Parts: sequence; structure tokens; C-alpha cells
Amino acid sequence: MEKTDSLDNYLDPHYITRSNWLRAAVLGANDGILSTASLAIGIAAASSSRDPIVLATLAGLVAGALSMAAGEYVSVSSQTDVEKADIEREREELKEMPEIELQRLAEIYEKRGLKKETAIVVAKELTEHDALGAHIRDELGLNEISQAKPIQAAFASGAAFTGGGILPFLVALFLPLHGMEYYLYGFAIFFLVVLGALAAKTGGSSIGKAILRITFWGTIAMGLTALVGYLFNVNVG
Ligand SMILES: [Zn+2]
Repeated sequence: MEKTDSLDNYLDPHYITRSNWLRAAVLGANDGILSTASLAIGIAAASSSRDPIVLATLAGLVAGALSMAAGEYVSVSSQTDVEKADIEREREELKEMPEIELQRLAEIYEKRGLKKETAIVVAKELTEHDALGAHIRDELGLNEISQAKPIQAAFASGAAFTGGGILPFLVALFLPLHGMEYYLYGFAIFFLVVLGALAAKTGGSSIGKAILRITFWGTIAMGLTALVGYLFNVNVG
């Protein structure tokens, strides 16, 4: 990997946002594929007709997407609440003890490598310019990129789950019923490997390791649900 390239990427805020979104989308899609395919395989192993498989897969897809979105919305909203409370507390502290806050800001810059005199000058100038903004960014570590957006996050994870889960659903709908478990397993592993490689490439980590990991755990998850299906093996068709 070119040193200059990775440094440029590291410094490019858009790259960081893009890679965060891509990683979240890939993980959401992974969930969609794995949980929907596992469900479909379990039903396919227990059933000799297509309808129950298609119905269960669709129900699993919708339920999974909605619960992912709801879970993401709740967790990101509570993160937003915490951030808002921190900002309010910061606003109060700046009103009640501006001198101490100025000192605190200067210490942060000193820790980052500025000389004591330079740090206090920078702290003074940034405080005059936008005191709350400087404390939010440099003391709380919050910025535009990290600011949580519950609706966007909920929508993104629900959409990613749906994007992943729709693949096993199409397999259940169109591929031959005989050996449906193997088609579902084969296609799910194929989609998971492609996504795993994509996530590893984006994150700059080992593609080989990512593929091995996702294939191993994907096989465990789908294998166990198939086993449950065979154990039940009731003709629901
Ligand atoms: Zn402060």
C-alpha cells in the first residue's frame, strides 16, 4: 500500500465518513443474508413445499429489517441524547467558570504538543471566536462527522439488512425446491464472501482472513439451523 495514498485517505474526512458508512452497510447486509438464509434453510430442511419457505423468509426479512432499524434508532438516539446533555453542560460551565474552562482548553492544546504560551494564545483566540464550538470539538471530541443521526442510521441499517436479506428470498422464490437448502447455503456463502472481501478491502485489512472468518461462522449458523429443521422434519406443505 502506497504510504502517501493511505496518509491522504487518513486525512480526508470524506474517506472516513465513506468507510464508516460502507462498513456499517456491509455489516447490516451480512446480518440480512445470514439471518434470512439461516431461517430459510431451517424451514427448507423441515418442509417439502415452497410456500412455507418463501413465507418464512419474507417474514424473517421484514421482521429483521424493522428490528435492525428500530434498534439502531434507539441506540443512536440515546447517543444523541448523551451528546446533547454534554453540550448543555459545557454551555453552563462556560457561563459559570470561563477562566477554568479557558485553562482546560489550553491544557488540551499543550497535551497535543503546543508550548504553554502558544497553547494559551490559541485557546484565547478560539474562545473569542466560538467558545462553545472549540470546547465541543476539542474537549468533548464531537464534530460534524461523529454527530449521530438516528433517522439516517436507522434507515441505513434497515436498508442494508433488506439488501442482504432479499438475496436468500430470491433464491427461495426461484431456485428448484429439491436441494433448496444447498442452493440457499451456496448462494448465501457466495454473497457473504463478496461482502466480506469488500469490507476488508475498504478497511485495509486482510481479505483472506475476512473470507475465512465469514465462511466459517456462516457455515456454523446455517448448519445449525438446517440441523434444527431436519430434527423437526414435519411436512408442513
Ligand atoms: Zn470545557
